[in-house]
Amino acid sequence: MTHQDPDCIFCRIVEGSIPADIIYRNNHVLAFRDIAPAAPHHALIIPLRHIVSLSDLTAEDEEVAGHILLAAAPVADILGIRQSGYRMVFNSGADAIQSVMHIHGHVIGGRSMGWPPFPGEAVVHGQ
Ligand code: 5GP
Ligand code: ZN
Repeated sequence: MTHQDPDCIFCRIVEGSIPADIIYRNNHVLAFRDIAPAAPHHALIIPLRHIVSLSDLTAEDEEVAGHILLAAAPVADILGIRQSGYRMVFNSGADAIQSVMHIHGHVIGGRSMGWPPFPGEAVVHGQ
């Protein structure tokens, strides 16, 4: 573990001091079920080390960024949505209502979805 933020809730899930329903783990990433699922199946894939958002990725993060994407299919398999289809979403920054400042890919499925994603079903965190 090269870098953790003691004030970060997802770093604390990685270290085990906050419980989570962990469904997948390897040397680079961890996946656990979202505490407030937005769909019948909803998990988050995070790097083990603290990176704030997509906008904070650097060339040094190339390997771990790849591992976040590579985890999507096995996580979808575990959720039982690999065949039916799923969406992977990264909220980055204020307009995208990123609420946890540790990069995470949402893997969402188990229902049909609309596109574009924003009308009608707005979720505004903290209000
Ligand atoms: P964001 O809005 O930052 O893209 O998404 C953060 C997600 O983390 C939300 O879907 C929220 O429900 C989830 N979340 C926040 N705190 C916790 C927690 O302590 N445990 C779990 N499992 N999910 C969390
Ligand atoms: Zn963190």
